[in-house]
Amino acid sequence: MAKLRFNVVESAFKKKAKDVTPPAGTTSDYFGSLVFNKEKMFKYLSTDVYAKLTEAIDNSVPLDHATAEKIAAGMKTWALEKGATHYTHWFHPLTEGTAEKHDAFAEPDGKGGVIERFSGKLLIQQEPDASSFPSGGIRNTFEARGYTAWDPSSPAFIMDDTLCVPTVFIAYTGESLDYKAPLLKSIEAVNKAAVDVCHYFGKDVKKVYSYLGWEQEYFLVDEDLFAARPDLALTGRTLMGHESSKNQQLDDHYFGSIPSRVQQFMKELEIEAWKLGIPVKTRHNEVAPNQFELAPVFEECNLANDHNLLIMALLRKIARRHGFRVLLHEKPFKGINGSGKHNNWSLGTDTGIPLMAPGKTPKENLRFITFVVNVLKAVHRHNALLKASISSATNAHRLGANEAPPAIISSFLGSQLSAVLDHLAKSENEDFNLAEKQAFQLDITGIPQLFIDNTDRNRTSSFAFTGNRFEFRAVGSSANCGGALLVLNAAVAEQLKEFKIEVDKKISSGKKPLDAIVDVLRKDAKESAAIRFDGNGYSEAWKAEALKRGLDCETSVPVIFDAYLTPSSVKLFESTGVMTHKELEARNEVKWEVYTKKIQIEARVLGDLAMNHIIPIATRYQTSLIDNVYKLRALFSEDEAKRLSAKNLEIIKDIAERTIFIKEKADELVEARKIANKIEDEREKAVAYHDEIVPKLEAIRYHIDKLELVVDDQMWTLPKYRELLFIR
Ligand code: ADP
Ligand code: MG
Repeated sequence: MAKLRFNVVESAFKKKAKDVTPPAGTTSDYFGSLVFNKEKMFKYLSTDVYAKLTEAIDNSVPLDHATAEKIAAGMKTWALEKGATHYTHWFHPLTEGTAEKHDAFAEPDGKGGVIERFSGKLLIQQEPDASSFPSGGIRNTFEARGYTAWDPSSPAFIMDDTLCVPTVFIAYTGESLDYKAPLLKSIEAVNKAAVDVCHYFGKDVKKVYSYLGWEQEYFLVDEDLFAARPDLALTGRTLMGHESSKNQQLDDHYFGSIPSRVQQFMKELEIEAWKLGIPVKTRHNEVAPNQFELAPVFEECNLANDHNLLIMALLRKIARRHGFRVLLHEKPFKGINGSGKHNNWSLGTDTGIPLMAPGKTPKENLRFITFVVNVLKAVHRHNALLKASISSATNAHRLGANEAPPAIISSFLGSQLSAVLDHLAKSENEDFNLAEKQAFQLDITGIPQLFIDNTDRNRTSSFAFTGNRFEFRAVGSSANCGGALLVLNAAVAEQLKEFKIEVDKKISSGKKPLDAIVDVLRKDAKESAAIRFDGNGYSEAWKAEALKRGLDCETSVPVIFDAYLTPSSVKLFESTGVMTHKELEARNEVKWEVYTKKIQIEARVLGDLAMNHIIPIATRYQTSLIDNVYKLRALFSEDEAKRLSAKNLEIIKDIAERTIFIKEKADELVEARKIANKIEDEREKAVAYHDEIVPKLEAIRYHIDKLELVVDDQMWTLPKYRELLFIR
């Protein structure tokens, strides 16, 4: 059996990089070649249809059926020319990946042949018989009808031989069953609220975009080694494995030179991404061995999120072409860094103004401070909910668990912006000079023009300001960013609406608009001060401090999910039109159920491996030691034999104690699961899995990892960390 390990290690070690040849021409020649973008629309649609479609894309104007018919025809012509044979509605169910059901364009023509068809109706709406997607009980199996509806704001694209049409996924009764529908609603809500606030500073703004620039971290593991690790294959992480003697201590992986096999993989990944119109820009090694990152240039939030989902699919697919498996799990390996997905988020206007960046004039800077303070106020009020939005069974290992930073949302602003806000909070009206004609100095001598130093970074902050954007870093590497961004957008929309009501009230009672704004900002800056933290977010002291400040410090994921259903969250989602109470309840059912299932699978896999890999191997090695002890007795005098076998006897005993412990815990694990599985309520069940099952997994692992250190390496069947992490 252990032979298998050596075989796979050997074959992995010998693998050579597979050279990738880029398509002819430069990147700009093939960028977007697989996307039905405006250029293709212009080419394949008549002028009036093109105009209507761009109106729908840019200004959410609904499309009529006759126009949809013509768009479908144009799209079909393009797709067939590109060699597509199938089409699909591409959507994001609550399972975190994407879903698609492919249909062939070809249909019988009644004369013994086929004809390619793709109607406007098929473009606009389809009914995936999707009763098996999680719905939290919104659709029971008797009424398993939901439909997917075209989202024209994200362009159709071709993956392999299939035309993919991005869609929302909705129940027949109207509730959303995906991430995209509420994300689009949140984008609209923040657009409306932000445009209104922008109008204090000028009337020309018609639309405010939310932008997302994600940074995707991932691990690569050789696929032969991966296949020899059932835990990786079934759960996406190693449930056992002793730390490698060398891992990231030397800090030699980050920004180090990229190994050639990985380099070729990245090259092909980028080519495929560019063809799909994904503007990937940066690639580099990450902190941990075999950990990497890629990031595109930021885009409008909905499109950026589609692109992230596509990248996750491409990562999986292209890794295999290079003999790798990609691990998107937040914590595949204990003891080294996990993977996140920093969500760089900002708002910007259709007139080209970035709202999270300081400007050149006093008025521009007041607008900047207005948006920053409103974001902080929203994040402060909904810090528990934002945490819920990034929480999952997998991300818990990265945030809130034993070796992870605490699960607390706080915001780092850097010293300059902090000074401005401190000053604002402390200032009185008279020493805060905001008359439009005068230079807006924010009353800090020497800073007539705000310049935010973007090198002032704090890597430990979960929601950091980085010069012209906020970086929501707590999002997990495997997550659909939509889950977090729809909460963020909604929270900011709600806050901007309230801000406007308060400012308008002051204006109508006679205050000058800019003074009214500063008044409300001053109050909001004070009220949200608790969310600001520039210190070490990973420290123990911060936990205590955050608790004192009233920030949410809950660490149990199933309990964290309760934040979706508090009155303030329900009010947030309903007042912004992003989700109804019923949808929230249904989604939480799904969240709890997914949590339970993930832990349940881990428990089963660990139980199996403990019983049929670890204990048998440890026992076999122990038996060889026992054999040695007996033989020593045959060779030496009793006293001498005793002395010579003392160490082996210790190991024999150690193995016995540990295997007994593992077996007992594995039995307890089964019993605890039986009890938990009987619980009907999804929340209670998830809590039981968190409280009763997870600690047992940890305890079993501890002893397995100790056994890995003593058992003969020749006998150990599972590839070790030093192999998984260093062969590439
Ligand atoms: P770092 O690793 O230093 O945080 P990267 O360059 O890897 O930075 O990634 C930064 C991401 O932030 C990129 O996707 C980039 O396009 C994005 N970004 C930059 N400015 C903005 C902005 N104003 N709004 C949203 N995203 C932004
Ligand atoms: Mg970053």
